[in-house]
Amino acid sequence: MKYVSTRGAANLGQFSDVLLMGLAPDGGLAMPESIPTFSPAEIEALRGLSYPDLAYAVMRPFISDIPEADLRALLHATYTEEAFHSREITPLTPLGDSGLYLLELSNGPSLAFKDMAMQFLGHVFEYTLEKRGQRLNILGATSGDTGSAAEYAMLGKPRVNVFMLSPQGRMSAFQQAQMYGLNEPNIFNIAVEGVFDDCQDLVKEVNGDAEFKEKYDIGAVNSINWARVMAQAVYYFKGYFALGLPAGAEADFSVPSGNFGNVFAGYLAKRMGLPIGRLLVASNENDVLHEFFSTGNYHVRPAAQVAQTSSPSMDIGKASNFERYLYLIAGSDAIQTKGWWDEVGASRPVNLQGSAHWDAVQASGFSAGRSTHADRLATIKRIDTQFGRLIDPHTADGVLVGEQFKRPGVPMVCLETALPAKFEETVIEAVGRAPERPARFAGIEKGERFCEVLPNDVAVLKAFIAGKLDK
Ligand SMILES: *Cc1c(COP(=O)(O)O)cnc(C)c1O
Repeated sequence: MKYVSTRGAANLGQFSDVLLMGLAPDGGLAMPESIPTFSPAEIEALRGLSYPDLAYAVMRPFISDIPEADLRALLHATYTEEAFHSREITPLTPLGDSGLYLLELSNGPSLAFKDMAMQFLGHVFEYTLEKRGQRLNILGATSGDTGSAAEYAMLGKPRVNVFMLSPQGRMSAFQQAQMYGLNEPNIFNIAVEGVFDDCQDLVKEVNGDAEFKEKYDIGAVNSINWARVMAQAVYYFKGYFALGLPAGAEADFSVPSGNFGNVFAGYLAKRMGLPIGRLLVASNENDVLHEFFSTGNYHVRPAAQVAQTSSPSMDIGKASNFERYLYLIAGSDAIQTKGWWDEVGASRPVNLQGSAHWDAVQASGFSAGRSTHADRLATIKRIDTQFGRLIDPHTADGVLVGEQFKRPGVPMVCLETALPAKFEETVIEAVGRAPERPARFAGIEKGERFCEVLPNDVAVLKAFIAGKLDK
């Protein structure tokens, strides 16, 4: 399988090349040259496979440059009961007889769904770097979930170092403890005196220095990485099969969304032939995506207009992976996609209403909803009371929208994107008690912290990185 850019670069190489690439040289995102599809009979043949074997079947058509035995071994090393605390890896739990289900994606090392793809990334990075005799220094910015998922995924991977920037004092106590509690030779936590956007700007500035980037093998694991999107498609298949529907019957999925990576993976599964009916994009107060799917107007918000909410991992003003979706909607037309993103890049809205592209959007099965802090609290409380099940604020956004769009006779699978333990403050506000915490995280707030505080200054950051690598 060859990869191309959403903005026109004809050949980006194969899977391993785009794995290590980040953005394409023309500023676009990597996409496979075509989307492989399964026939209904081929879909049925996947039913009953274990998670790693299913992952192999779903990913294999996208990866032609890793030998079969190696890829199988990588997937079996990634998706283990030991890492995900469940033999099913992503168990499916019905909410009473409401027809709503929770697809549990958050039983991995960092208690958020980002582990599902990031754990695979850790293994496949190490494998690919070993083959190529290379090293990689991941520089990232996090407001919480990405950073911890990346750090847990790269633990004990000698060819990879992680330099993770986070806004000093701005993450939940649990998130801070989870990251800063790691004392590992290849993990460097850097608390920046600033906000999340400052961290992100620092990453951009370092990446803008081509010489530094090259000299120190700087790479990324952000949500535009194709391997993350592809790995996430697998659990849509797993969740669908766990419903036990007759062959060909449809299921709907509701997905708490920020950067559009998770729900895009669902769209990929649908395009591959999985009988998904509707894909629901759940937003919080930052409702760029809700606005688009309701009106056809894609109007990104500058960082200063992004509200801080109680589902913070969805606080985005610009959904990076959305470019992949519109590229497919345009029939893989890179010239059209580039035209749109020139507008987006110049902070001008793109409006599809009334065009053939808008018809394609509506035919694609997407709908969207939004929720507020009050909705979130009410949903957490209602699901706890009705079904005896505590959910986290992000999952609550998805459940609310799932309820709103529930079709009679069609199961609605709501993706659980984090465990409530990760967002204790909001859960306590909703139900008046603290959520249960996995035993391995008991009392982590009390442990020692391993974290460097740096000023919001790119020269200081570069000197810090160079100091660690120049030994
Ligand atoms: C990252 C994240 C999201 C948003 O996922 P996207 O792929 O960015 O749309 C939702 N919920 C939680 C808990 C997350 O960590």
